[in-house]
Amino acid sequence: MEKYKCKSVGIIGAGIQGVCIGLQLIKKGIPVTIFDRQDPLSLEFKPASYGNAGHFSPYAVLQFNRTDILYDVPKMLLSSNGPLAMKWNYVSKLLPWFLSYLKNFNEKSMLHTAKYMHQILSLSNDAYEEIFREIDTTNLVEKKGIIYVWTNKNLKSRELEIKVRKDLGIKQKLLSKEEILELEPNLNPIFDAGVIYESAMHARDPHGILKEIFKLYLKKGGKFIQENIESIEQHKLDQTIVKSDNEDYVFEKSVIASGAFSKNLTDKLGENIPLDTERGYHVHFENMDHLISRPVIFLDRGFGMTPMNQGLRAVGTVELGGLENPLSKKRINYIVNCAKELLPQLGEHKDEWLGFRPTLPDFLPIIGPSRNNKNIIYAFGHHHLGWTLGAVTGKIVSGIVAEEKTNLDLSPYSSKRFN
Ligand SMILES: Cc1cc2nc3c(=O)[nH]c(=O)nc-3n(C[C@H](O)[C@H](O)[C@H](O)COP(=O)(O)OP(=O)(O)OC[C@H]3O[C@@H](n4cnc5c(N)ncnc54)[C@H](O)[C@@H]3O)c2cc1C
Repeated sequence: MEKYKCKSVGIIGAGIQGVCIGLQLIKKGIPVTIFDRQDPLSLEFKPASYGNAGHFSPYAVLQFNRTDILYDVPKMLLSSNGPLAMKWNYVSKLLPWFLSYLKNFNEKSMLHTAKYMHQILSLSNDAYEEIFREIDTTNLVEKKGIIYVWTNKNLKSRELEIKVRKDLGIKQKLLSKEEILELEPNLNPIFDAGVIYESAMHARDPHGILKEIFKLYLKKGGKFIQENIESIEQHKLDQTIVKSDNEDYVFEKSVIASGAFSKNLTDKLGENIPLDTERGYHVHFENMDHLISRPVIFLDRGFGMTPMNQGLRAVGTVELGGLENPLSKKRINYIVNCAKELLPQLGEHKDEWLGFRPTLPDFLPIIGPSRNNKNIIYAFGHHHLGWTLGAVTGKIVSGIVAEEKTNLDLSPYSSKRFN
């Protein structure tokens, strides 16, 4: 095995970024300890990496800084029954994020995001396939593509998506209403057309996959400590101190992979990073997963359904409201009603879940060393695509820690863009 100079690494967060980074580091022979306030193998572990829609979406290069929705955002925010919602008690706290978001609402920024999302998304499936060769994925992963459906009402947006993806060489197959119904005959035909991304996969149980990766990490010698981390400090250049409520832990390097909660730690490092959260929801319809064969997303409604082991998971909406506000019943009702619109045969739902997408105003993640210390490395802000990007982020960050050369242009993911 190649010898790496780094003596030890502490990772804060056992979401999909943290466990994939841990696995890649331990495979390089670098001693690693992952910290999380919840044990990933327990039933209490329910972060974004647990409750997401399970899409592995290497095609999803366009984000919400897209020019076609600029004039729709205020209308969507004011509507209480749409895919976008606002917790009004959070408006003043959201302001720095929102102003920076508005600055990124132009074609140049949209195409910059698409280009650099594409750079890492195009490597994402291969990075997972490498991990899948080492874990048991029976009944956990399916490769049947992902379908998006829409009505003719907002064709302009669909044309934009299709063009940007075509220009980047992303494979997509447009479908007529009849072709969609051939693939998914149980759907209520309230849409006009759609697209399938045939190379996309989906998780039948994101938490199940995360647990398998985490168990492999432990088997290879990785350590885990269940602690809430208060701060990271640097005393000497090759010494980072991870401070929990009870103890100080010393590592040569530390990685912040704490999803939407990462700002609590980066603020204490003196970097003002405008990380915020897009809150999203899911519910399950037990024993109804047989109704569709693959994920189906209804773009007009900003929601989707994924067949999973826990049942049919209906997922979606974006709610701007921070990390403290409680779950909104209105958002849950919105998702339940959308699901029943596409599949009227659905009955009662269970498992109402609220999760936090970690989102930066330009919709690119932060991957790379912190501004003030190259031994404190950031890996957060993967917004709607963090599940897809887990394995490739693991490879990139382990390369940064091990000081390996890369052909990737990592500068667009640096936190310095906000300083
Ligand atoms: C509704 C919804 C649907 C989604 N669907 C998809 C999808 O289909 N495909 C896709 O690619 N992405 C999807 N995403 C996005 C994706 O789930 C996230 O981007 C991704 O899970 C983030 O992973 P993470 O490891 O960065 O953070 P998390 O999964 O949030 O993990 C962070 C971990 O850090 C721990 N932590 C935080 N602070 C501390 C601390 N101070 N001390 C100790 N531990 C700490 C937390 O306990 C947590 O376990 C979806 C998200 C949501 C909410």
